Amino acid sequence: MTEEYTMEMDTDRLRVRPGTKVRLDDIDPGEDGGLDKATGKERTKELRAELETLQEMLYVDGRHKMLVVLQALDAGGKDGTVRAVFDGVNPQGVSVTSFKKPSTEELAHDYLWRVHQHTPRAGHIEIFNRSHYEDVLVVRVHDLVPEARWRKRYGHIRAFEQMLVDEGTTIIKLFLHISKDEQLERQQERIDDPAKRWKFDPADIEQRKYWDEYQDAFEAMLDETSTEEAPWYVIPANRNWFRNLVVSQIMVEKLRALDLRYPEPEFDFEGLVLE
Ligand code: AMP
Ligand code: MG
Repeated sequence: MTEEYTMEMDTDRLRVRPGTKVRLDDIDPGEDGGLDKATGKERTKELRAELETLQEMLYVDGRHKMLVVLQALDAGGKDGTVRAVFDGVNPQGVSVTSFKKPSTEELAHDYLWRVHQHTPRAGHIEIFNRSHYEDVLVVRVHDLVPEARWRKRYGHIRAFEQMLVDEGTTIIKLFLHISKDEQLERQQERIDDPAKRWKFDPADIEQRKYWDEYQDAFEAMLDETSTEEAPWYVIPANRNWFRNLVVSQIMVEKLRALDLRYPEPEFDFEGLVLE
C-alpha cells in the first residue's frame, strides 16, 4: 500500500461556504483528485466497508437521524450513487424516497408537506433522490409558480432544515455536477442501450434546452441554502468512480463525527455466564 493510497481526500473544499457565490463554470466536473480509477475504486471499497459498520452503529445507537439529499440534472447520476454507495448497508436502517412530479393531492398542499413525512426517524438514514429543492429548481425554471412565491422558498427551506437539525438530524446535501457533454453522452446511451431505455424520458430532450437556466437555478440554490449546519457539497460527477469515492468519504466522515456507541445496558451483565 502506498502512502497516497491510504490518504483521505480533503472533502471540505467541496463544501459550499455560506455567503459565497458559487460559479459552477469554475468547478471542473471531470476532476479525478489526481487518482487513477483502480485506486479510487479500491479506496471506495474500504470506505464502503466502514460505512456499513457505521450505519449499523447508527441503527443500534438509535439517537441520531441522517438525511442525505441528492440533486442533479437528468442523467446526473443520482440513482447510480445510491446503488454504488449504499450497496452493502443494512436495508433495515436505510431508505430512499424519490420525489417525482407532485400528484394532485400533493399539489393541493404546501410543497413541504410531502417531504416532511419522509424525513428520517431515529437510527435511520434517509436518502432523498430529488427533494424539496425541486420546488426552487424545475419550478423556478418553468415558472410553475410565480416568482414572488418561489423566491420566498429559500428562506422556508433554511428554516425547515434548521428545525430538523435542531431536533437531531444530520443533513448532507450533495449536488452532482456533470458537464453538458457528459449529459448528452449519457442520454444517448439511454437511447442506444435497450437495457437503459426505460430511464429515457422524451421530456428530457426538451429539458436540455434549459441547461443554462438550470445552472443558474442550481447556483442560486447553493448560494441561498448552504448553511453551516446543513451544507451543500458540489461533487465532480463526470466520472462515476470519483463521484462514488467522494460521496462515500463524506458519508463516513459525517458518521464518524457522531461519536456513535452501543446503548448502556439496562441489565447487569457483569460476570454473567449462561449454563
Ligand atoms: P426522474 O427523477 O427521472 O424519475 O424524474 C422525476 C421528474 O419529476 C423530474 O422531471 C423532476 O423535475 C420532476 N419533479 C420532481 N419534483 C417536482 C416538483 N416539485 N415539481 C415539478 N416537477 C417535479
Ligand atoms: Mg429521468
